[in-house]
Order: sequence, then structure tokens, then C-alpha cells
Amino acid sequence: MESQSRVSMRRTHDVIVIVIGGGSAGYAAARTARDAGAEVAIVDQGPLGGLCILHDCMPTKAILGSAEVAALLKRAKEFGLFPVSVRADLSAVVDRKDRLVREFAEYRIQQLRDPRLTLYQSRAVFRSPHEITVGDTVLSSGSFILATGSRPREIPIPGLAQAGYFTSDKILDLRTQPGSLIVLGGGAVALELGQFFARLGTRVTILQRGRTLLSEMDEDVGRALEAALIDEGIDVVTGAQLLRVTHDAIGKTVWVMKDGRERSYVGEEILQALGRRPNIEGLHLDLAEVTLDGGRIMVDGAMRTSQAHIYAVGDVNDVTPIVHLAIQQGEIAAYNATHADQPGKTIDHRLDMEVVFTDP
Ligand SMILES: Cc1cc2nc3c(=O)[nH]c(=O)nc-3n(C[C@H](O)[C@H](O)[C@H](O)COP(=O)(O)OP(=O)(O)OC[C@H]3O[C@@H](n4cnc5c(N)ncnc54)[C@H](O)[C@@H]3O)c2cc1C
Repeated sequence: MESQSRVSMRRTHDVIVIVIGGGSAGYAAARTARDAGAEVAIVDQGPLGGLCILHDCMPTKAILGSAEVAALLKRAKEFGLFPVSVRADLSAVVDRKDRLVREFAEYRIQQLRDPRLTLYQSRAVFRSPHEITVGDTVLSSGSFILATGSRPREIPIPGLAQAGYFTSDKILDLRTQPGSLIVLGGGAVALELGQFFARLGTRVTILQRGRTLLSEMDEDVGRALEAALIDEGIDVVTGAQLLRVTHDAIGKTVWVMKDGRERSYVGEEILQALGRRPNIEGLHLDLAEVTLDGGRIMVDGAMRTSQAHIYAVGDVNDVTPIVHLAIQQGEIAAYNATHADQPGKTIDHRLDMEVVFTDP
């Protein structure tokens, strides 16, 4: 923190609530605290809009719309229509997605620029449990709501980085359709994007370590989905332990151990969809004296970290990385931060609901 003391800093005091991160969880927290009458500062390093709008929910659901139409057109005969041959123009699909996302992002940016909130477009770094540095300004507050989201998990698979791969953040901007795609992972993101590319005509192989797809859900869900995806022409390999990746002129080869022997799968591109991890690097949570457990921020039902005045909501706490629950967590934290004299609100996980946007 030496370098910070060298720059001249302006001090701003008495912000009642500081929200760090202006995505779905952070904006929900800021809006709730503002509506409770608190003076709220919201800090976001940008690009403004948050993951759900810019890279996740909305862009994926926009492109899945194209895949759904393609799948339906292929069934034209079943509906008494002359069969059509469907050809995709991935670049046009991406253009449509970008148009839709732009509309949502502009709306969110307007919300963040609400004159009743003070928006700082900068990176936030803790310098003590009650202070953060935002550019050349130090903000202090009695309540912080941390909502800095997540980033793709980097898995050390030998050769993967050298071969090159996409994550969900990047593949949504791909404009040239790959002839074949190996998808690493069998969770919602892997399956939604795998089915999208398959429906557009890419040969897709899904490599999943668990015995079934969607391994965190009931086994019969994963098994039914596996059968449906195989029926659509997707190669689904479960129980595959990833060993290494090699690449040459033919393509990228993923080597796995399955049923006690090595097997390999070749694709033009690889999508690494092996999960995400909390975005906490560089925040200096040590100076905030927030306790981590295995690199994760622990929160209680009221969304409080080990520091009672610092809350963590949304993907950054890794509890339920789903947007409507991130929003709910943001609202609960902001309520608790602004109603210290009243009984607090807590989250009820019995009501968690999760949707996987595959077909079925
Ligand atoms: C491919 C994909 C598809 C998905 N689809 C769905 C779906 O259909 N439905 C669903 O419910 N969920 C979906 N999710 C999950 C959902 O997108 C996330 O749960 C949600 O966006 C998390 O919101 P958040 O506010 O926690 O984080 P984010 O939206 O990531 O916001 C974090 C913000 O913090 C800012 N930030 C980070 N660090 C700092 C810092 N140090 N200082 C200042 N600002 C900082 C960032 O700029 C960012 O704006 C999907 C996820 C993926 C990966």
C-alpha cells in the first residue's frame, strides 16, 4: 500500500453504504439502499453492465433463440411443411445478440448513473476495514457490499493453454463457426453452448468428468438430457478424466482417461466450461480483515462476511451463482446495512430455483 500513500488523495467521508461492483447483485444492493434513504456510492471498474448482461445470461439466451429456430426448422416436415435445409451465419447470429445486449446494457448504465447514486468508474481496493481506494480518492463507510462477481476458473490441464481455448466469456463473440468443438465440462454453461453449436451444424463432443451430466442435480435429470443430446448428434462422454491437450495441423486433441484406458478426441476448437471462481484478486481483503476459507469468502444468511459491516453478494460469494439469487442477496444485504436497528433479513435456500436452458 506504499504507492497509495505517495499519491495525493482526496477524502470523502460519511457515505452510508459503499457497493463495490455494479453488476446484477451490486445494482440491486445500491437500488435497495438508495430506496431506504441511504447515501450510496457504487464503484465499478467497467465495462459497465455486469456479467449477466454483457457476457452471460442475456447473450447466451439471445443466441439460443437462433438455435431454437434452427432446430424447429429442421422439424418442418413433422408440422406438414416442406423440409428446409438450415444454414447458419454465425456472424449474423452474433450481430443480433450484440444488438439486444447493447439495449440492455444501455438501460443498466442509465440506472447506474442515477443522480441519487454516486458512481465511481474505477477499481476499488481496500486499505483498511472501513476504507477503500478508488483512483485518487479514499472512501470510508460503515457498510460495504462486495459484489465483484466471478471469472472463469483456470484449470491446469497440461497443453491446454498452448493449444488455445475459449471460455464462455469469449466464445460468444466468435464469428466463424468451427467445424468441430470439444466442450470440457458438463454443467449448464457447457450444455447450453454445446447444444447451441451443435444445432448450428458444428460437430460437438462433450467431455464430462462426472458419471452424469449436470452432476450437481438428480442423476435422472442428467441421464435424460444425455439421451436427448446424443439423439441430436452430440457425442457425450461421461466419466472422462482430463489428462492433457496436444495440437497439430489436424486440430486440438484432448486426451482423457475413461474406463481405465486413454482415449482421445479431436476438435477444431475447445470450449473450457469448467466453472468460475470468485473475483477477489487485488481487492486486498486482507487489509479489510475479511476471513477467507480456501480462497472463498464465507457469508452467513444475512450475507455478512467475517466482518459484520462487510457483506458479499452474488457470484463473489460462490453460494448460488445464479442471477435472480444474486439480486436477492444484494437486496438482503442492503436491507440489513440500512436497518441496523431492526431484525435483519436472511436468505432462505429452500426457495432457490435454477433453470438450465437446454432443450429439453
Ligand atoms: C455463460 C453463462 C450464462 C449464464 N446464464 C445465466 C442465466 O441464464 N440465468 C441465470 O440466472 N444466471 C446465469 N448465469 C450466472 C449469472 O450471470 C451470474 O450469477 C450473475 O451475472 C452474477 O452477478 P454479479 O452481480 O454477482 O457479478 P457481475 O455481474 O460479474 O458484476 C461484477 C461487477 O464488479 C465489477 N468489479 C469487479 N472487480 C472490481 C473491483 N475491484 N472494483 C470495482 N469493480 C469491480 C465488474 O466490473 C462487474 O461489473 C450465467 C453465467 C454464465 C457464465
